[in-house]
Amino acid sequence: MDVVVIEPRKGRHCAECRQGPLTMHIREFNAPLCLVCADLAHLAYLPRGSAALTRRAREASSLSAVVVRFNRRRRRYERQGLLVEEAALARAESACLADAEARARRRERDAARRAGEDVRFTAELTAEILRLFPRCPPARAQDIATHSAARGSGRVGRTAAGRSLRQAR
Ligand SMILES: [Zn+2]
Repeated sequence: MDVVVIEPRKGRHCAECRQGPLTMHIREFNAPLCLVCADLAHLAYLPRGSAALTRRAREASSLSAVVVRFNRRRRRYERQGLLVEEAALARAESACLADAEARARRRERDAARRAGEDVRFTAELTAEILRLFPRCPPARAQDIATHSAARGSGRVGRTAAGRSLRQAR
C-alpha cells in the first residue's frame, strides 16, 4: 500500500523535530511528521497531470507516496501527485520522451505520405480539369488543382475547384 503524504491547508509542525510550518507531512499516531523524520525526504514530487508518466514512475520506484490535500467543499482528500525516487522519475521521463519522439516521427511520416497523396491528387485533378474544360490554360488548371489540394482533398476541394473554374471563364 502507498504511503499517504498530506499537503496541509494550515502550517503544521513536525511532532518529532518541531520543524515547520510544513508544506507536506505524513500522519503517524495522529500527529504530523515531516518528510525528513518519515525518511521520505529523498523522494521527488511529481504533480498529477500525466497519467503515463505517473504510472511509469510508480512502477519504477520501489517506494512511492501519494500526496493528497483536503478539499473542504467536497469534504474529501484529493490526490495532488506522487512522491517517487528521483531515478525512477528520470527513467519514467525518458521513457515518455521516447514515446513522444516516436509519435512525432510517425506524424512526420504521415504528413510526408499525405503530401505525396496531395501531389498525386493535384496531378489527377489537373488532368480532369483539362479533360472537362479543354480551353482552360494548363497553368490555370494546375493552379486550381493545387489550390483545392491544399484545402484538403475530397468534395470540398473539388467544389472549390469548380467554383474557381466557373469564375475563370
Ligand atoms: Zn521532523
